[in-house]
Amino acid sequence: MCCDYDMDELHQMTLFTIGPVQMYPHIIAEKGLPIPYFRTEEFSNQMLKMDNDFKQLLGTTSKTRCIYLTASGTGAMEAAVINCFDESDRLLIINGGTFGKRFCDICVVHNIPFDEISLPFGEELTREHLYRFENCGFTGLLVNLDETSTGQLYNVELLADFCQRNHMLFVADAITTFLCDPFEMDAFGIDVAILSSQKGLCLSPGISIIAANEKALETHILKKTPKTLYLNFKDYISNMERGQTPFTPAVGVLQELCSMVAYIRAYGKDRLLSDIEQRAAYFRQQISNLELKIPSYPLSNAITPVIFKQPIAKQVFLTLKNTYGLVVNPAGGTMAEYMIRVSHVGDLKHKDYDNLIKALEICIKEASSQI
Ligand SMILES: *Cc1c(COP(=O)(O)O)cnc(C)c1O
Repeated sequence: MCCDYDMDELHQMTLFTIGPVQMYPHIIAEKGLPIPYFRTEEFSNQMLKMDNDFKQLLGTTSKTRCIYLTASGTGAMEAAVINCFDESDRLLIINGGTFGKRFCDICVVHNIPFDEISLPFGEELTREHLYRFENCGFTGLLVNLDETSTGQLYNVELLADFCQRNHMLFVADAITTFLCDPFEMDAFGIDVAILSSQKGLCLSPGISIIAANEKALETHILKKTPKTLYLNFKDYISNMERGQTPFTPAVGVLQELCSMVAYIRAYGKDRLLSDIEQRAAYFRQQISNLELKIPSYPLSNAITPVIFKQPIAKQVFLTLKNTYGLVVNPAGGTMAEYMIRVSHVGDLKHKDYDNLIKALEICIKEASSQI
């Protein structure tokens, strides 16, 4: 094949990123297959079966409706907000990083009134942060359960109790906690959950999923008339009754999703979670004697933020990628020079972490000596 781009180099890198993540061979094989036409009974039946199994993975019942949206995670966040809320609502947003800030930005764009609990980097969300927002007439809470930019895993019970007491709709972006940490939508008291293909599901980017329970449907979604055509949930819900989407979805990613849901059901969700937990624990333990630290707030198993003592993060990121073909997540904002983030999701083994840690040790020495 004639190709002027150096694509092999990109394909050969090992991803410690989220996401895309290091994908599993059986999903890569699925990606290589032709894309089927989707307005068929066969495709509908496959979607209906997958939808049913997917709800079990989410820990919810068939009464919950899943909206399969062709969009990145941000598209699903925006869609969830505008289908559940409007100018007459008042929201509380946990803003502890890039993704919390994004919920605020979405509300600004759509004129939805909100207050935010703004957490400086390093601060753990606690009961005390919520006190002054009790009985203030909020109608919904927006939170990124794992704020991926910092890796903080918020206390879901604390937030669910707050929503219950204050009669609020609990909207949880679970994009990097679902299939990374224990997650049970109903047991956790979540009304609307937001998921995306390229994170814990380990698929190509392109599909994001919004799961809305009966309460969310009856008290919010079915009562609102959002000013959007493409993102109108009512259309997706009625189409999904026959296993279809209103518009052409990313069919290939839906095929990957079916394959992954079947795989996880066969492999076992608990076993998958335990693998990720062990990888995270292994990495965190193995780096404990390097010149770096890990934040003290509660962490998701999805990702480990690694904080350097010197401003070498950008250099370490580049050397890992350019010299070793190992890709980690850089950090943004005030931590950009001091932090990288290492994912534990995807087709990664202990030996991959051994390689990463060896390279990391060399990179830290090199970069520190150049400061
Ligand atoms: C990745 C991510 C998103 C979505 O980001 P996109 O780039 O739009 O896919 C949203 N929330 C969280 C917590 C994420 O980690």
